[in-house]
Amino acid sequence: MKNKLLILAIVSFLTGCGYGLDNPEQTPPAKTATDFPATEAIVSIGTAVQASTDTSTVVPTDTATVVPTVITTDTPTWTSTNEPTQTATHMPTQTSTPFVSPIDFSNIVTLKEEIPRIVWESAKNEVRSNYEDSRSLVELKVLVGPSTTPYYNENEDAFRNAIAFWAQFPQPPEYFAFLYNFEDKPWAVSKFKEMPFYSKGMERSVDAPCQHIPQACTGANSGIFGANTGVGVVGIYPPDASDPYRFGPLQIHEYTHAVQAAPWIGAKDPNRGHQTMPSACWLGEGQAHFAGLAVGSDSLEKYLQLREMQVKGHPVEGFNDYSADAILDFYRDTDCLPGKSPEYALGYTIGYLTVEALSAIGGPTSSMGLNTRAALYSVGEVKEKEFNQIFQHVYGISWNEAMPILAKVVADTVASLTYK
Ligand SMILES: [Zn+2]
Repeated sequence: MKNKLLILAIVSFLTGCGYGLDNPEQTPPAKTATDFPATEAIVSIGTAVQASTDTSTVVPTDTATVVPTVITTDTPTWTSTNEPTQTATHMPTQTSTPFVSPIDFSNIVTLKEEIPRIVWESAKNEVRSNYEDSRSLVELKVLVGPSTTPYYNENEDAFRNAIAFWAQFPQPPEYFAFLYNFEDKPWAVSKFKEMPFYSKGMERSVDAPCQHIPQACTGANSGIFGANTGVGVVGIYPPDASDPYRFGPLQIHEYTHAVQAAPWIGAKDPNRGHQTMPSACWLGEGQAHFAGLAVGSDSLEKYLQLREMQVKGHPVEGFNDYSADAILDFYRDTDCLPGKSPEYALGYTIGYLTVEALSAIGGPTSSMGLNTRAALYSVGEVKEKEFNQIFQHVYGISWNEAMPILAKVVADTVASLTYK
């Protein structure tokens, strides 16, 4: 039990990061040292990986100091009740963009080819509708290292699009994005120490994106630091400039990790909220990846290209059966720790396609309703029973009923992308 708590606390250090390591030419299996899963686990998990592997030197296991979580007192009670506690009051408001979809749970298997168009168009509509009003929602600061050349100049726009996309949901009042190459790591450390959210040891997270290739920072990580500040660390490595994922989708993906934790602002460690949900294995990276790809694609055609690249580009060693039954088993896995569990990386494929399907049914941002509902419970109190109720509230049917339908959609979609 103690070990589990320790792991939970460390997992909570940051939310995972997603960083597309795919090459534009798109070959499924890992081709380089930068590909999945060996490297991804470290960064993407940003969190537990460090805890449970030898990467503890990167973010030592005392990262409780980074996100001030008192391990022993932040223990889930495990006395699950049906009644939400009063710990959180954030609830999504009505979306400003009416969402009408021909797709529901009864016909999604037959209409699955309509999913990408519906979600891409509605995601764009959501951003457009919210863009102006959302500019004052979050104080955004993009900080670039002195010797760092970002992949492009629209980083701030990408983050702004992410803020607009999630405008109907709780967000951190401030978000700092640090973009830096390997040479600028000392700059990032010194900047961290100047930040109002800084607490001793926090600067170690600067290393998180720099664990995949020697003397290079290619990953990214994001979450809530301190009480309520969103922070993203994004490594810049010139050879990655050929990867279209880095031109918007990555930034939006990372920002989404901070939004995922935002409903728990006020709890001791906001990052732990969504990471302890029974859906953590598929929803955590799936939600971030869906937002990144849909919002970060300028056209439906580009979205379809990125979608295929990402699904093919995150193979998971030891997991080769993408049948509906195997996907069901993955859904039922509620304990896939980054780094420890290779299936964590299925969040970038199965998780992403699951959130995409849900977004086609309930609207492009609907999945964040799961987080905001879950935040009505204390951290760690959402178990299977509660999650079923939360899911039913958001989507109209229980998670148990939805699972086989979604598994079939995802299995068919993976097959169509892989074998076409
Ligand atoms: Zn991620």
